[in-house]
Amino acid sequence: CGIVGILGRHEAAPILVEALKRLEYRGYDSAGIATLNDGALDRRRAVGKLANLSDLLVHEPLRGKSGIGHTRWATHGAPSVANAHPHQTGPVAVVHNGIIENYRELRAELVAEGAAFETETDTEVVAQLTASHLRQGDEPVQAAFRTLDRLDGAFALAFLFEGHDDLMVVARRGSPLAIGHGEGEIYIGSDAIALARMTSRVTYLDEGDRAVLTREGARIFDAQGMPVDRPEKTIEASA
Ligand code: GLU
Repeated sequence: CGIVGILGRHEAAPILVEALKRLEYRGYDSAGIATLNDGALDRRRAVGKLANLSDLLVHEPLRGKSGIGHTRWATHGAPSVANAHPHQTGPVAVVHNGIIENYRELRAELVAEGAAFETETDTEVVAQLTASHLRQGDEPVQAAFRTLDRLDGAFALAFLFEGHDDLMVVARRGSPLAIGHGEGEIYIGSDAIALARMTSRVTYLDEGDRAVLTREGARIFDAQGMPVDRPEKTIEASA
């Protein structure tokens, strides 16, 4: 339902929770964040209000300056901690808005290859398929792009990779996604409102776009895989 992300210069967890709060108005049944800390992925998820996630983070903090966050409105799989995003398979973590229409087919294929699924969501195939591409020797960007090529449906996605603290891959197909630009930092949000506290400089992905983000900036590709320039817009910053 709501996606946020940051490659930053400060601890990411509190910034992600704050950004998710700005998307609360959309409604959700659970929430979670994943961060990269010295290359290692870790995540915290909770059912119910963001306050539950915040409480969990007090007792079990997450360190790291790169992270993704999600508020979930379940479409496939009951609201539960296991089904809450981010979903992680090995070295890949993903957050997802929308629906992967062909998830049954992909899941069957992956199970036949020996994948062990941990959730009832349509989303998990995205993490599982990307992890499978990494095992085949793909670099992270290629692994994510090959996964995107296989997906049917309407979605926005963000990927993080273990060992790559300065990399996020994002995609937009039928579900909005905005990139925010900071000083040596970069952000994403499913709604620019989530970014209003961090920056006023925003680039909206076009339908079908995918992007490779580092703290230095974004490389954006259209649905045909061609590099494209999308205009930077100014949004109103807020307190
Ligand atoms: N279809 C995904 C799920 O049920 C994502 C739902 C959402 O957009 O929050 O987990």
